[in-house]
Amino acid sequence: MDAGTRDPGARPGGAEYDAVIVGAGFAGLYQLHLLRNRLGLRVHVIEAAEGVGGTWWWNRYPGARCDSESLSYCYFFSPELYAEWEWSERYPGQEEIRRYLDLVTERFDLRRDIRFSTRVTGARRDDAAGLWIVETDKGERITATYLITAVGCLSSANVPKIPGLDRFEGRWYHTGAWPHEGVDLSGKRVGQIGTGSTGIQVAPVLAAQAEHLTIFQRTANYSVPARNRPLTPEEKRRIREEYEETRDLVRATTNGHAYHISAKSALETPPDERRALYDAAWETGGLRFRTVFGDLLTSAEANETAASYLREKIRDVVEDPEKARILSDIDHPYAAKRPPIDTDYFETFNRDNVDLVDLRAEPIEEVTTRGVRTSAREYPLDVIVFATGFDALTGPLLALNIQGRDGIALRDFWREGPRTLLGLQIPGFPNLFTVTGPGSPSVLTNMPVSIEQHAEWIADCIGWLRENGVSSIEASPEAAAEWGAHVNEVANRTLLPTVKHSWYLGANVPGKPRAFMPYAGGLARYRKICDDVAANGYPGFVLGEKKPAADASLTELVAATEGVTSRV
Ligand code: NAP
Repeated sequence: MDAGTRDPGARPGGAEYDAVIVGAGFAGLYQLHLLRNRLGLRVHVIEAAEGVGGTWWWNRYPGARCDSESLSYCYFFSPELYAEWEWSERYPGQEEIRRYLDLVTERFDLRRDIRFSTRVTGARRDDAAGLWIVETDKGERITATYLITAVGCLSSANVPKIPGLDRFEGRWYHTGAWPHEGVDLSGKRVGQIGTGSTGIQVAPVLAAQAEHLTIFQRTANYSVPARNRPLTPEEKRRIREEYEETRDLVRATTNGHAYHISAKSALETPPDERRALYDAAWETGGLRFRTVFGDLLTSAEANETAASYLREKIRDVVEDPEKARILSDIDHPYAAKRPPIDTDYFETFNRDNVDLVDLRAEPIEEVTTRGVRTSAREYPLDVIVFATGFDALTGPLLALNIQGRDGIALRDFWREGPRTLLGLQIPGFPNLFTVTGPGSPSVLTNMPVSIEQHAEWIADCIGWLRENGVSSIEASPEAAAEWGAHVNEVANRTLLPTVKHSWYLGANVPGKPRAFMPYAGGLARYRKICDDVAANGYPGFVLGEKKPAADASLTELVAATEGVTSRV
């Protein structure tokens, strides 16, 4: 019997599986590997798509590419895997990431425990039996001791409810659910709504394919050139050789990238030197631009030095003064929303076949049979592309229709906003773990690094519970409240919550409660808190029969990590 089929014993309430994992992206695959291949548990993964990849299965829009650099957008748990795989470009493209995850799936023999093309429709805690009952759209009921959501933070597409969309006689698509066979845009008049990271990435490619592209912009955005390029053989060799250094670095940095945020202050740096540093970062390209100074997200004045530099760049690139004005009329500090990076985004507005519509001046009123009508006029279109983002962080979890102890629905429990302990557990939902849930660093970081940290913490926790004969673990309501206060407190030290239309706050989805969702204290600090919690016997959690865990205090553990890098 191999590790995959080993069955170490009876499960409470006669559960079929030790663990059910929802999702087979970066998170679900690694969680399966850890629980099955390391702990020897019986694990079942349920995945809505026909293959592995999660985000990278669905986001197949033209030009889809990751903004993290390829040397760090991967797993680090296996040196052999790191050595075996070779990225071709500075940033990994969607198809290449999918191939990487396919390799991981085969290499660790994961496929046989994944049920594809199956969507979880509900999950209910059976208090008496002490297990989870998971229901799927195939009519199954699957039982497990532990339920682990690995559903991603950005997987519930947000299609705005614009009146008339159902009457549109052309075709419309959301970038996060792009048809796998592609879309032939030649000879088509395309309208693109949304200019976030996705819109900025897709626009140049749409412009090159379509006869005409109209970009509907609600909020103008900064962007820094990605400067993507093929990696040289020398770089590929170095990436392989420097595996250990890179692994240790991504685990030590604030946001899981392979570079630190400088401690230097923009305000204390003389203007000439500051400009030279911005020039150098502009040439380097990518998300590193935000690491030039340590105070860009804590001081509005410091931020303005970067923001004005970037607005000036927009005006330099965009030839039409009116377009340049609309594109550079930005209402928020640089990087206080997720900063996009691009390949020829602003240059796209110099093409003859690209128009820009300022939705602040002329809001969309409806979709007609022929196109989009704003308060000023109708724009005839054959295709509408919604690059309008996601119901982030909470959306994918609420879509699972989870009911915890005493039948309480997660949707009700989170009516005022998400409540978690460490973004890992929710009071009233015993043995439910949320990989990169709200309240964890998640979307403020390079995701695979955060995912590895969570999956390892969860596996260690489950291993500990089993070794110690503890039937369940659950966040205590007091500790979750304390953690929520800490999440807000660290966010409020930054400019992040000051942005009106930010999906970090849930502000992009009408009716969604406003709450700052990710943990902005930095991944390095967060990792230390999680490690200390585990090492001290899980303070803040309730174990088994409502026994509070260890005597150690969560407050003291968190306070003791104050000095760990927390620059955002
Ligand atoms: P997003 O950042 O939420 O941007 C959505 C865009 O659609 C915004 O410009 C928004 O305008 C606009 N919008 C939304 N509803 C609208 C409406 N009713 N009418 C007009 N405009 C509307 O979504 P995203 O660009 O898909 O990016 C989401 C996140 O995914 C990113 O921040 C990033 O974390 C991740 N991502 C990563 C990559 C990568 O690594 N390459 C690429 C894409 C996305 P407002 O700003 O006014 O709300």
